Amino acid sequence: ELKTDFISTVSHELRTPIAAVHGAAQALARDDVVFPDDLRRRLLSVISDQSERLAHLVSDVLLTSQVESGRLVLASEQVDVSELARRAIEAGRAHAPAELTLELVASRSLAPVTTDRDKLRQVLVNLVGNAIKYSPGSGRIEVRLEPRENGLRIAVRDEGVGIPQSEQHRIFEKFYRVPEKINAVSGTGLGLYICRELVRRMGGSIWVESGDEIGSTFFVELPLATAST
Ligand code: ADP
Repeated sequence: ELKTDFISTVSHELRTPIAAVHGAAQALARDDVVFPDDLRRRLLSVISDQSERLAHLVSDVLLTSQVESGRLVLASEQVDVSELARRAIEAGRAHAPAELTLELVASRSLAPVTTDRDKLRQVLVNLVGNAIKYSPGSGRIEVRLEPRENGLRIAVRDEGVGIPQSEQHRIFEKFYRVPEKINAVSGTGLGLYICRELVRRMGGSIWVESGDEIGSTFFVELPLATAST
């Protein structure tokens, strides 16, 4: 049953960006139409944004399959988490509505964390991506990095729709999506599952604090040197 769910959810999620890229590319390929510059730029940015969305989706699917089959291997490298967070915010800003502000709050003297850079990037990109997706309209999103004893705490705070108390223990499950919100925003329910699996394997923990309608804050706490398997 899970396999069937997986295939149908993922195929459904792939179809929308593929159709958008296909449509934009076909329009640009027409030689009987001269596009004004701003329309040309918009079509190109559709191709770029939607192909990025496809790449993230494929990463989540690949990571899920690695987790399931026990083939997930974590690298061990020195990672500047401020730099990683800055990039995740920049990437988010590129496709967030202009009314949303995204900010990084971090002290200058944060120690590097020894962990897998790509996997930690995926965690940050998923959390920032969700903060944007579940903040309709305006608001502020903040990524805060704080030193902890022998570790680092990352907090991603938004002012979006919030998560009812009764749902909070389920959102990290594979495929789980909060029911009322399913139709409002697209998604696979894989993002937080991946985050939890990756953070666990790094020897860290992840949790959420949220109330209905008052936004959510996702916390990730990592040891300074995370496990290498
Ligand atoms: P997806 O976003 O693809 O549905 P996730 O695993 O990333 O899957 O999230 C699971 C569910 O948790 C989402 O469907 C949504 O209901 C809820 N959720 C996640 N992040 C947030 C957030 N920042 N604000 C409100 N709800 C959230």
